[in-house]
Amino acid sequence: MTLANDLAQRIDAAVDADAPALTELSLKIHAHPELRFEEVKAAAWICELVERHAHSVERGIGGMPTAFRARAGKPGGPRVAILAEYDALPEIGHACGHNLIATSAVGAFLAAAKVAKDAGGEVVLLGTPAEEGGGGKIKLLAAGAFDGIDAAMMFHPFDRDLLAHTALASLWLQFTFRGTPSHAAAAPHTGSSALTACMDLFRLVDGQRVHFRDGVRVHGYITDGGQAVNIIPERAACELSVRARDTLELERVKAIVLRCGKAAAMASGVEVEIATRQGYKDMVNNMTLAGQFGAHLGALGRRFVETDASLGAGSTDMGDVSHAVPSIHPYLGIVDPGAAMCHEHRFTAAAGSDRGTRTALDAAKALGRTAVELLTDARLREAVRAEFSAHKKS
Ligand SMILES: [Zn+2]
Repeated sequence: MTLANDLAQRIDAAVDADAPALTELSLKIHAHPELRFEEVKAAAWICELVERHAHSVERGIGGMPTAFRARAGKPGGPRVAILAEYDALPEIGHACGHNLIATSAVGAFLAAAKVAKDAGGEVVLLGTPAEEGGGGKIKLLAAGAFDGIDAAMMFHPFDRDLLAHTALASLWLQFTFRGTPSHAAAAPHTGSSALTACMDLFRLVDGQRVHFRDGVRVHGYITDGGQAVNIIPERAACELSVRARDTLELERVKAIVLRCGKAAAMASGVEVEIATRQGYKDMVNNMTLAGQFGAHLGALGRRFVETDASLGAGSTDMGDVSHAVPSIHPYLGIVDPGAAMCHEHRFTAAAGSDRGTRTALDAAKALGRTAVELLTDARLREAVRAEFSAHKKS
């Protein structure tokens, strides 16, 4: 750790002083879950809290009404971004704990902002909407929001503390099958079932799993299963998520799934229309920076492991950011290991618990300390940059 003791103490003290307001923010967002791109209340509450601390906020950046940016410190020097997410999931609310991500990011920003001028650099809070399938960070990347950023960081709630973890490259495929309707009892022989093709697609994909590399995931659901019980379904549709450890394998598996879709349509004598929705890149964890985050986490009394390849992985638009600037996406536990996992009802409850809030405040301190350390330590910035460049070349 190269962060001066007094700076670390000032950051911790600032987070402690803001703890009541941060806790209130977290619980308010948790109680009002909003879906991707509709995070109007959450974004407004976050911006208001930041403005109450006399920072101006640019709202609606990157063409997204619920994206925002605040800056503090000394422009022209090193610059570090702390990322907030605040969208929720359908039905199960804040089952990914993004209310805690937002809370930690605001806490870290407000604390780092107090010392950023003395640290000789700038800290940026980026409000990034729609992590759950909307890719807000990808839109912000395209809009130049990460230009001139030396490093980007955030934390994600989990069932244990991990400095770094895999995130899979991903994309979505939508298949719409169109057949010929007929009376399912009186004239089944004159129809062709779009639903049969749709179900065959799932079976064909299952048959191909023997050829998938480790880490590949293909999963989905039927979004349209037909029109009535007594009609051979004229139209059926499904959505599949395809994931892999890197973009190359992702493209290979995508081609297999497309082949299965066409084969299923051919077998039933129906038409198929296929749409691809861009997903996320895999996560490149900057281990130099993650190590510094870990040192601060340890100083705050938390026990962590660097990484654990035996744990399952999802996908995040932070992956795209990590290919553009050095990034970390550490995980901190808000439940005991194995007690609950993201996207479960039990995790929703944990994201609104005292333990969840305490973890967000720890994350705020560790993120704030790491951000300011990066601003003050040119050698650390050089090492972080060198690791990032080495990965790009490999
Ligand atoms: Zn999440």
